[in-house]
Amino acid sequence: DTYLNSNYSFDNFIEGDCNRLARSAGFAVAQRPGLTSFNPLMLYGGVGLGKTHLVQAIGNYIINHFDSKQVLYVSSEKFTNQFINSIKNNTLQDFTDFYMRVDVLAIDDVQFLSGKEKTQDTFFHIFNHLHQLGKQIIMTSDRPPRELEGLQDRLLSRFKWGLTADLQAPDFETRIAIIQKKIQSEGISIDYDVIEYIAHSVNSNVRELEGVIVSLMAQASLTRREIDVELAKNTLRNIVTNESKEVTIDTIQEVIADYFQITIADLKSKSRKKEVVYPRQLAMYLAKEYTDLPLKSIGYHFGGRDHSTVIHSVQSVNILIDEAPDVEETLQKLRSYFK
Ligand code: ADP
Ligand code: MG
Repeated sequence: DTYLNSNYSFDNFIEGDCNRLARSAGFAVAQRPGLTSFNPLMLYGGVGLGKTHLVQAIGNYIINHFDSKQVLYVSSEKFTNQFINSIKNNTLQDFTDFYMRVDVLAIDDVQFLSGKEKTQDTFFHIFNHLHQLGKQIIMTSDRPPRELEGLQDRLLSRFKWGLTADLQAPDFETRIAIIQKKIQSEGISIDYDVIEYIAHSVNSNVRELEGVIVSLMAQASLTRREIDVELAKNTLRNIVTNESKEVTIDTIQEVIADYFQITIADLKSKSRKKEVVYPRQLAMYLAKEYTDLPLKSIGYHFGGRDHSTVIHSVQSVNILIDEAPDVEETLQKLRSYFK
């Protein structure tokens, strides 16, 4: 078992300015494993930027082009667990033999070895053994070697023997190409304006970009709608969750109207009815709390009232908070809608 996933290849790895060096170094290693000066090859970059894809592509390329080469891909987590089990089962020798026999060792996310001294000792011996025999070693990490804390210096210095290349967040052109490739592989077609909209809106990493496309397709089939910019907007709005949204005066009025079962027109009206005055005062109070708008502008949004009305409302609510215990409670409930 090589632990490789054949879905990852160079063919479906999109090249761009963000990953060119890493990709071409990876391809060089795949064509001449152990024979280039890129040994070890160390690829680093943030989450979802293609590290696993690229090391697996190297591994797959090698098993497809060199019949006799033994390739092994392993996550550092799995490596650690296997090591621990071999200690428990008294099979450490089998464990190291297994790793020392391979021609290509790809070990993913080595930052995970941080602080695991015994695992690092064993990895160090395996590394030395393989390197001396001219076997290819490929590693990935979520940060550059110099920032890897909790890893032994003797390991870190070996990581620098070969080539270190980074994967960066995809630039706009690369994002476009990745989206196009993804939708093509799903056998669907989407208008270019939608592709462009997604590429503009999602710029963190490739995994997130793929997630958006999958959600978009799910939305389209659930709602039996065509994939257009409108649907993309809705989908993105639902995905962007934990980012705290800016609270606007419109949101506040909507929440208050909903909570008190009145209309937004009521809030803006001249009505002096108790059922309207109290919610209106709370709305102005929260508008002052949540927005940077000047009082004059807040008054304007409530049927063109002036700033002294806003001051009066805020004072009234402050008095109510002191006098009536349920007012603070109501405010807390309302605030929970803005989180
Ligand atoms: P990492 O290991 O850096 O966290 P992955 O390799 O798991 O990231 O990539 C996340 C997803 O994005 C995978 O589905 C991968 O196929 C895809 N991906 C990343 N980079 C590219 C790229 N350049 N071209 C095509 N797909 C990519
Ligand atoms: Mg990964």
